[in-house]
Amino acid sequence: MNASTDISENILAVQQKIATAAVAAERDPSDVTLVAVSKTFGVERIEPALEAGHRCFGENRVQEAKAKWPALKAAYEGVDLHLIGGLQTNKARAAVQLFDVIETVDRPRLARALAKEMERLDRRVSCFIQVNTGEEQQKSGIPPKEADAFIAQCRDEFALPVAGLMCIPPAEEEPSLHFALLQQIAERNGVSGLSMGMSADYEIAVAFGATHVRVGTAIFGRRG
Ligand SMILES: *Cc1c(COP(=O)(O)O)cnc(C)c1O
Repeated sequence: MNASTDISENILAVQQKIATAAVAAERDPSDVTLVAVSKTFGVERIEPALEAGHRCFGENRVQEAKAKWPALKAAYEGVDLHLIGGLQTNKARAAVQLFDVIETVDRPRLARALAKEMERLDRRVSCFIQVNTGEEQQKSGIPPKEADAFIAQCRDEFALPVAGLMCIPPAEEEPSLHFALLQQIAERNGVSGLSMGMSADYEIAVAFGATHVRVGTAIFGRRG
């Protein structure tokens, strides 16, 4: 079997598991979007996914995405590119130009910069607020206690299109506690999108209401 068959079959298999998990949770499978995380992989691994009809992808670095995606976006209609990695304020302009969704809005300075660039470029990019549900020192994301106020600030002060919340649970902890916490924060703030779940735990995330799961390894294989 060649690599491109692998990738399209992996996508089908993940979609199937998402559908099964959704039905088990009495949810509509079409309410869950698979974000195929293509970070570190070259165009030759991404194109088979595009050829198979997949359109939603995640990248964690602006520079890397800039090298790969403008040409792919020109060649394939309807690409929906998500930034899932931390964003430096000085890269806000490049991020607004290239990405369709920014999942890692986590501080007022960044939110302000994104709002300014969207205005300047006349381009609205959906934003997810990243919440540091594990309150880990080294991890980005707004602390859970500050989430309500930050969501309100993004909406009211910066007029950002807040489409969802995103979290990355601590590696050593039960992810469901974090998924449940993110779901609660979303519910009480009237936020509809929930980006949570990766290769190891996306089915659990679907049970907790994920609208976006970010899956890399299970589709593209191990990163070098
Ligand atoms: C790399 C990455 C993923 C994908 O992780 P896998 O375990 O390979 O599925 C998901 N979310 C974020 C934020 C990532 O950086």
